[in-house]
Amino acid sequence: MTTRVRLRVEGIVQGVGFRPFVHGLATGLGLTGFVGNDAQGVFVEAEGPAADVEKLVRAIKSDAPPLAVIEGISAERVEPAGDRTFVIVTSQAGGERQALISPDTATCEDCLRELFDPADRRYRYPFTNCTNCGPRFTIVTDVPYDRPFTTMSGFPMCDDCAAEYHDPTDRRFHAQPTCCPVCGPSLSLVPPAQGDPILVTAELLAAGKVVAVKGLGGYHLAADATNDPAVSALRSRKHREDKPFAVMVRDLVAGREIASISEEESVLLTCPRRPIVLLERREDSPLAVGVAPGNREIGLMLPYTPMHHLLAGAFDSPFVLTSGNVSDEPIAYHDLDARERLARIADAFLVHDRPIHMRTDDSVVRVVRGVELPLRRSRGFAPQPLRLAAPVPRPVLACGAELKHTFCLAKGSRAFVSHHIGDLENFETYRSFTEGVEHFCRLFDVRPEVVAHDLHPEYLSTKYALELADVELVGVQHHHAHIASCMADNGTAGPVIGVAFDGLGLGTDGTIWGGEFLVAELDRFDRVGHLATVPMPGGVKAIKEPWRMAAAYLGDGSPDLDVARRHGRDWERVLAVARAGVNSPLTSSAGRLFDAVAAILGVRDRINYEGQAAIELEQRADPAERGAYDAGIEGDAPFQVRGHDLVLAAAGDLRAGAGIAAIAARFHHGVARAIVSGCVAARDRTGLGTVALSGGVFQNVLLLTRTVTGLEAQGFAVLLHSRVPANDGGISLGQAAVAAALMARVRHACVPNPGH
Ligand code: ZN
Ligand code: ZN
Ligand code: FE
Repeated sequence: MTTRVRLRVEGIVQGVGFRPFVHGLATGLGLTGFVGNDAQGVFVEAEGPAADVEKLVRAIKSDAPPLAVIEGISAERVEPAGDRTFVIVTSQAGGERQALISPDTATCEDCLRELFDPADRRYRYPFTNCTNCGPRFTIVTDVPYDRPFTTMSGFPMCDDCAAEYHDPTDRRFHAQPTCCPVCGPSLSLVPPAQGDPILVTAELLAAGKVVAVKGLGGYHLAADATNDPAVSALRSRKHREDKPFAVMVRDLVAGREIASISEEESVLLTCPRRPIVLLERREDSPLAVGVAPGNREIGLMLPYTPMHHLLAGAFDSPFVLTSGNVSDEPIAYHDLDARERLARIADAFLVHDRPIHMRTDDSVVRVVRGVELPLRRSRGFAPQPLRLAAPVPRPVLACGAELKHTFCLAKGSRAFVSHHIGDLENFETYRSFTEGVEHFCRLFDVRPEVVAHDLHPEYLSTKYALELADVELVGVQHHHAHIASCMADNGTAGPVIGVAFDGLGLGTDGTIWGGEFLVAELDRFDRVGHLATVPMPGGVKAIKEPWRMAAAYLGDGSPDLDVARRHGRDWERVLAVARAGVNSPLTSSAGRLFDAVAAILGVRDRINYEGQAAIELEQRADPAERGAYDAGIEGDAPFQVRGHDLVLAAAGDLRAGAGIAAIAARFHHGVARAIVSGCVAARDRTGLGTVALSGGVFQNVLLLTRTVTGLEAQGFAVLLHSRVPANDGGISLGQAAVAAALMARVRHACVPNPGH
């Protein structure tokens, strides 16, 4: 019996080879009909014997092309039309735009084979790509996703490429960025040099030079990772004192010489997203000390463009590949700007003539307890939407916080969390935030009606929100946003016990929060407990100088401790300032608690990047140590966890001659134990058995694993992040979830109860 079905496929289904895939399936089954693209995705009509039509529908779901992400398929039976063949029809314009844009994707196996095949016309061509791989988000200038609306518009296809592009049986059918040595972009060196630019770059690296390399989402700085003077030169010229550099190696085998790599980690290293993966560094690794000072870990990534494959093949030794910028500025991506900003850092530039439209940093992930934990969600991930548990009634823009900034647009059931923007502290990053919002609104056809923002009035993201006209504003408390982010990440609406531990965020009472126990739903929260507050002597100075927090916590001065001796008269002054409460805002920040202990143990008195003291303290902790300090809990509604007890115990052990490694471990275990006690106290009051952990402090693996183990031992279900970072990079998703829930509540209240 002949049947005909009409299918609608939604998700990332354009520019990923979906139409030829359906065409191939349908003709293989002997069906007739058509497939095409429109503003919502892909539409199909297929006609033939019922069993074969069934087979087609099943295969569309199960065998979709590698880059396709199917969010939904709807099917309806229609009258047979009696077509003779199955064809790909031309794209239809119109309708509300819903089509999605794929993230940039690492070179596929087929393209790699061509790249290294001397007989192939793309042999050693650094811009080889196809429908299954290559640049996407970084080159799209407008919608619909078509070559004229990408930065490939200036490269008309040669006859050979055009023939592939128009052949439905070819891997490059409608591959918008497809090109070849005849018609596509090319590499060059600045200053110009004789020979293959890749080989010359490899020689420069071998000679200890720093080379700026234009990549997919911006410029990187490259240097021989085994060459101490080269790495030191890169550090001093970049003004980056100790923040670890990421390293690229040619393949997993080379990676295993540097770090131990588990099964899960190797999957992440080689997946099409190709993030930087944080790994445990081998003690005998050949890396220069300056690559990741004071760190037992190393961020590794594998080549993700043909150019990287060629360079890694030619250099054949690990090389640093760090963002092309000076200290905290955003990564350079415009050629003229890069040449200017990186002139004093790079000895040479390896560049190409394909413009980058969207600046996108490398993503960073790690594996904890066998599960992927995102630390920076950017290249390879953005702008793939996250699915929301419930659709938003009206379009939302969530403006994010300040550090590790992202923003988020939500429409229907989709949340588009932006690529990593950076720290919103200068004009450059602020501009990439505002331009990014405009770009996303255009690409995804969103006109925000509700705008969510942090409560902190000084954040540039808050100021931006407050200046928007004709929108409804929703202020979301920072730590509520963290917990909401974790709930949205896990697809739950709560209620949960939320533990939000981070550096700082403005509380609803005007103090600085950061060690919070909340009972939270998406649309409301109650602060049931927090770390006992301490003064931050000198305000922001105390963030940069952890020794000030040591003084604040010790209070009595503890003049016998080394940390007090190191600072002499300054120590006394800071104590007096804290006691008098002059420029010493109160905080319950967990980050500052870690800072205090790091300073007391002599790990770090001043930081060069956010979170450094805590990161180094974690690195120093002895993995074999079992002991844990105790923190008292006092008061009620909200209860207070006495962080002071942990600090005093650490200082006491230090006086008694215990080792730094043992004390650091006992402190971490003590914080984990205090979190568990706080959650038990919250459960006693509420009966809730689910805990959501969020905030940048939970990037600390030792603390995280200890806390999860402790909570599970007490019978709690624990929610962690897996799609957005626990740090402030995940805040925008939480803000969007809160705004959506508030809207739904308002709407709900207006709906008359049908039963009465
Ligand atoms: Zn490919
Ligand atoms: Zn060509
Ligand atoms: Fe935060």
